[in-house]
Amino acid sequence: MCGVIMLKRTCYSDKLKEGEEVVLSGWVHERRDLGGIKFILLRDREGIAQITAPKKKVSEEIFKLIDSLGREWIISVKGNVKSSPQAPNGLEVIPQEIEIISTAEPSLPLDPSEKVDADIDTRLDNRFMDIRKPKVTAIFKIRSEILRAAREYLLSQAFVEIQTPKITASGTEGGTELFPISYFEREAFLAQSPQLYKQTMMATGMDRVFEMAHYFRAEESNTRRHLSESDAIDIEMSFIENEEDVIYILENLVSHILNCVNKNKKNELSLLGIEVNIPSTPFRRVNYDQAITLLQEGGFNVRYGEDLGTETEKALGNIVKEKYGDDLYFLTKYPLSTKPFYTNFDGEIARAFDLDYKGVEISSGGQRIHNVDVLKTRIKEKGLPVTSFEAYLKPFRFGMPPHGGFGLGIDRLLMQMLNLENIREGVLFPHDRRRLEP
Ligand code: ATP
Ligand code: MG
Repeated sequence: MCGVIMLKRTCYSDKLKEGEEVVLSGWVHERRDLGGIKFILLRDREGIAQITAPKKKVSEEIFKLIDSLGREWIISVKGNVKSSPQAPNGLEVIPQEIEIISTAEPSLPLDPSEKVDADIDTRLDNRFMDIRKPKVTAIFKIRSEILRAAREYLLSQAFVEIQTPKITASGTEGGTELFPISYFEREAFLAQSPQLYKQTMMATGMDRVFEMAHYFRAEESNTRRHLSESDAIDIEMSFIENEEDVIYILENLVSHILNCVNKNKKNELSLLGIEVNIPSTPFRRVNYDQAITLLQEGGFNVRYGEDLGTETEKALGNIVKEKYGDDLYFLTKYPLSTKPFYTNFDGEIARAFDLDYKGVEISSGGQRIHNVDVLKTRIKEKGLPVTSFEAYLKPFRFGMPPHGGFGLGIDRLLMQMLNLENIREGVLFPHDRRRLEP
């Protein structure tokens, strides 16, 4: 123990083949003693393997050592793979050597074998152990696939991956959601989104950019779908005709992501009991007027001109699902007053959209204003000080193409795809107003 590791892992538990000699490394998930035969369920990243030790077939030393093992100890096991109809995957390992790599205190903060449920706070307080649960690991493997698929699609569409600053001199959209920080002798803010930088990138001639972005937002209230720190796929693209060009990329991106998850994460989805419906493209468009009518017909008290709240969004999700069978749909043609200053428009209608998934907003986007004079007018109309936008406005004065983009919340997409009750379940270490640790 604590010395040199003697047994080096040769494979994960899902790659066992009958007749081979292997070394597995992992956690003691469970131990059973039937007198003449002892079992260890060894858990690693890819699953659970049964280690079977019949008294007659293993050394006395190993037989004894198994008794000393506690739950969640880490061991390496060298042995031969045999077929066994009762074992998981029909295979078991007969141990020749067992090495104890690390021990664990006997009183566990939660049960990684998923037999005893824990509330969300206990789970998050002990996240290192919570993530040992196969179902929780599955969520993060699916999350990784979302990111891989997103990169694959965007790179195939000639987007260039960028990174922009997360410490900024001013907020993107101002407001109360900013986190001020002390920055040497001045005040600075954590970036709410890469909005202003990715627009600036359109003045560089880079045309199409994307960022796996990190958002910081001081969300006042504790909801199931807001965090202080969240992740998003942000894109910006030039030479568009209108917001439909941006919508085209977003619906094909989401469709590619869902297809890849379905194809490449079958085991994880079945472990979680989830079936992902993949809508055909183009996704349904519900314009703002239709949305208000549908809601009013459904008995909801909404007035034209208001942004949709959490409850009305959810209700609309149910109505659209019932009426058309769609999980994913775009909300288009919003009143301009509900959208940020940089949003392009036709009269009173914003060239902007949201993408909703099962009644929850997962993305917002649109065409931006690229004419500097119009932009200044809109800043003033929103009651914002033009002087504090000088740095943002400068690139617009020296050749700015028409452009647009979106921010797609990764945590929200994952939450809705997997029907997670709380956005926190799909985030490794979620931070919110109440929680800053771990
Ligand atoms: P909402 O109205 O749901 O609070 P928003 O309109 O303020 O969201 P946007 O500025 O449009 O959010 O951000 C783009 C996307 O980023 C959202 O559609 C959502 O998927 C995600 N997002 C924004 N804020 C958060 C947050 N606090 N926690 C998790 N995801 C977020
Ligand atoms: Mg939005």
